[in-house]
This record gives sequence, structure tokens and C-alpha cells, in this order.
Amino acid sequence: MAKVVIVGAGMGGLAAALSLCRNPSWEITVVEALNRAGGKVGWHRADGVVFDTGPSLLTLPAVVEHLCEEAGCQLGERINLRRPRPAYRYRFADGTNIDIGHSPEETAANIAEVLGERSAREFRTFLEYARKIWEVAAPHFVWGEAPSFGGMLKLGIRALRKFRAVDPLRTMDEAICAQISDWRLRDFFRRYATYNGSDPRQAPATLNCICWVEHGLGFWGVEGGMRNLVQSLVALAEENGVDFRFGTPVRSIDRRGDRFQIDGDGVELDSDAVIVNADIGHLLDELAGSGVETGLSHFDSLSMSAWTAVIRASRRPADERPAHTVVFPERDYLEEFADIFDRKCPPKLPTIYLSAGEKAHGVDGWDDEEPIFVMINTPPVDPGKKNSMDWQKYEQKILRRLRKLGLIDSGDSVVWRRTPEGLAGQFPGSRGSIYGAASNGRMAAFRRPSNRVDEVPGLYLASGGAHPGGGVPLAMQSGIQAARELAAYCT
Ligand SMILES: Cc1cc2nc3c(=O)[nH]c(=O)nc-3n(C[C@H](O)[C@H](O)[C@H](O)COP(=O)(O)OP(=O)(O)OC[C@H]3O[C@@H](n4cnc5c(N)ncnc54)[C@H](O)[C@@H]3O)c2cc1C
Repeated sequence: MAKVVIVGAGMGGLAAALSLCRNPSWEITVVEALNRAGGKVGWHRADGVVFDTGPSLLTLPAVVEHLCEEAGCQLGERINLRRPRPAYRYRFADGTNIDIGHSPEETAANIAEVLGERSAREFRTFLEYARKIWEVAAPHFVWGEAPSFGGMLKLGIRALRKFRAVDPLRTMDEAICAQISDWRLRDFFRRYATYNGSDPRQAPATLNCICWVEHGLGFWGVEGGMRNLVQSLVALAEENGVDFRFGTPVRSIDRRGDRFQIDGDGVELDSDAVIVNADIGHLLDELAGSGVETGLSHFDSLSMSAWTAVIRASRRPADERPAHTVVFPERDYLEEFADIFDRKCPPKLPTIYLSAGEKAHGVDGWDDEEPIFVMINTPPVDPGKKNSMDWQKYEQKILRRLRKLGLIDSGDSVVWRRTPEGLAGQFPGSRGSIYGAASNGRMAAFRRPSNRVDEVPGLYLASGGAHPGGGVPLAMQSGIQAARELAAYCT
């Protein structure tokens, strides 16, 4: 039996464990610094109520479905997915509201009503363009091993011609402006760059496929909250013999001959292979010990971080407060990206994302109040810059705006908050970045580290920082691919 140690029980680590756990050849130990699994998919208890503090919607549930099957059950036996209505409301500065449905047609009908037939037509055409990108790109950039130029060339001329459909030469924003006339619909599509923490002015138009993933393939809530997804996957892994060690930070990974030595607080393990789910920056700066010269380097451009909070807000009906609300700022939306990526400061007038957990995930709030998750995109933490940000003042500004818009009441209060620095402190090596490297350049997909570290046989990466990238389903896919590469190495 070969021993595998997984460092970190985030979504990538859990997915790697579930991919391997039914194979009797592996003995799997997951070592996790926190007292719980899930990593950035976190939760917190305040005034007797537990609420999510990380992701608030699930896309590509087929990845979870696949993992459940790998571990011997069906998704529906463990997790119930929800499709709340109304699902999403986009609020624009001119007072326009667009409700998003659970099918492109439902949303197109709402767009037609609010912005007119032309915008509805452009919405449909843009989604069709996004679908084509996804269908050509996903087999090479998401589901398989990390792409390389050599691998691409081997596909041959005919296959490469197909790649024109992925629109790699324009930026997201250029492609949006070329196809969409209404500024509100442009902002709506630009926002998808934030789904992997990138900048629509720099990210390749290929990333426009993200809107197809959400609208064409669907988005869901998880009954009981995103934490329920985590807890269900941990239970499934444990039933299949995975040994979890929580509250156990690993301090070093050394290579001794063809084995690894993993040391930490209260843990000394040796193994045949190691899968690192911790942030790659942490591996490079702290964990990699003797014999672990990975050849990897820090990312040039990190994805966004966030200021997040949870408000204990007087309960409102779903038609007044849908599961998710996006409040765009009263200024050019692109200025928000200029603040984050050029001026490297939190947006002066940020887009505010709100998620109502009761509606999205069917969780219980307080007797008369519900937990409302608030998220503002910010730059990652710059260790070379003195932190002079007054987050308390920033919070007050956001609350004032939400009150002015009538989205919260005067007595509603913040019961939990986390600054980018807080996020960075919780996840060492991340600098508070949520999705690893930003995809701000044509070569981004090729620069993302692969799941196998060629320089150190037996060492694998399973996280949003590695191929194929961040977000819950992709981080899980990273774990699945790391497990595949490990299995191939050992046979
Ligand atoms: C506020 C917020 C909102 C988000 N919204 C969404 C969303 O709506 N939809 C979506 O798909 N994604 C969303 N994401 C992104 C998503 O949560 C992440 O991309 C994904 O969860 C990352 O998973 P991961 O496997 O890379 O690892 P992480 O979550 O980073 O987990 C790594 C784990 O390794 C552990 N670890 C680190 N160092 C050590 C060590 N030395 N020893 C032991 N353990 C260690 C950490 O404690 C952690 O548990 C959001 C994230 C945040 C923070």
C-alpha cells in the first residue's frame, strides 16, 4: 500500500482524496491547519447562527457528481441543490433592475422587458458565442492535463483552426463592446472577469465563456449552505477510509530518497507522494524543504482579493431581496478595475455583491433577521506596501450606500467581517488572493502550474493556484487531475 499525504482540506485537497479513496492501493492522510475542512469555503457562527463566509453559488456541479461517483454514491444521496427564484438581481446606477432566471430564455425575456428587444437579441447571441468558446476550450483548458504549446501543436492544423473560436487575441472587454450596445449589458458581461478575479480590460476574450457556464450550464445553491457541501464530502471521504488530521499545520515537506517527510505541529508523517492543496506561495516560501526544488515561481499578477462581511438584516421577502444581488456603482464600471489593478487600491465606489443565505441555500437565520453576505472586490495584499487602509470607514461607507438604496434597514448590523489582510493571514502564501494567478494576459492559461511537479517526482498540486484555476469546481478539478497524474505515476 502506498502512502499519500494531502496538505490542506480545501476543495482541491478534498477532491484529490475522494478521487483516490476507493483504490485499495492508497493510504490517504489529509493534514489541515484549520479545525475544519473547506479552506476558503468557510463559515462562522455569530449570535447563535451559522453562515457561510466564502462562495455563495455553485456552478459545474457535474464535478461534484463525478467525485461522488468515484467515492461510490450519487450526488443526490448526499447533497440537495437548489434553484431559488428570483435568483439574481442586477441593479444599475440609473435605477434599472434586471432579474436573472435559470435559463437563457427566461433572462432574455427579462432583458427584453427592461432594455428592449435589441439587447435581448444581443444577450442571446453573446451567450451563443460564449457557448462555442466553452465547448472548444474546456476539453483542453479545463478537463484535461495542463495545456502546453507543444501539446497544442501536436493537435494539428485542423484542430488548431477550431481554436479561433476561443477568441484568444481580443480582450474580454473588446469582445463585449464589439457585440453589445447597451452599457448596462456591457457591465453585466464584464463582471464575469471577477469570477476568476481578473480584469476584463486585460483578460483574453476566451474568458467570456464564464457567462455560458453560469447561464447555459446553470448555477445552484446548496441546501444547508456551501458548508454542507464540504461536510458531506468529508463524511464521504471518511467513510472510504481517508484519515483527516485537523488543527495540524504542516511546517515542512522534505524529500528523503524516493520518499517524503512531512512535519508539522503534532504531525510527523512519511509518504510515497504528497499532494499540496495549500497556496503555491506558501509551498514556495515555507513548506518546500530539502530535495523539494520545485522550479515554480511566484505569480506575476495575482487575482483579486475581497473585503467581506455578514449583516444581520431584518428579514425581507424574496421578491424584495432575491438570493443574490449585484449593485453596480454610480460611475464607469471599468474604473473599478483601474482602482484594483492599476492604482492597486480598494475601489472608491465599489460594486457590492449581496447574497441572502436563507434564499440561496435554505439555511436558517435568526428569529426576525437573515444573514446577508456582502462582498467587495479589492486588490490582493502587497507585502511591500504599508497598510494604511481604514477598513472601518470603508465599511461605514458601504453600509450607508446600502441603506440609501433601501437594501438594508437602519438597525441592521454587521456581525462578521474579513479584510483582505485577514484573508491573507488565514491562508498563508495567498496574499488574500482568492483565485491564484489572475488571467490578465493571453498566455495566462499556459503559465498556470501543472498538477504534476516534474522537478520533484511524487509531488502534486491540487488547488485554485494550479491548473485549471480557481473557483470551487475548478479547484476540485485540480484535485481530480492531481490524483489522475499520481495514479499514472504509480502504475
Ligand atoms: C469570499 C469568497 C467568495 C468566493 N465566491 C466563490 C463563488 O461564489 N463560487 C466559486 O466557485 N468560488 C468562489 N470563491 C473561490 C473558491 O472558494 C476558491 O477558489 C476555492 O475554494 C479554493 O480552493 P483550494 O482547493 O484552492 O484551496 P483553499 O480553499 O485555499 O484551501 C487550502 C487549504 O489548505 C490549508 N493549508 C494551508 N497551508 C497549510 C499547512 N501548512 N498545513 C496544513 N494545511 C494547510 C488551508 O487551511 C486550507 O484549508 C470564493 C472565495 C472567497 C474567499
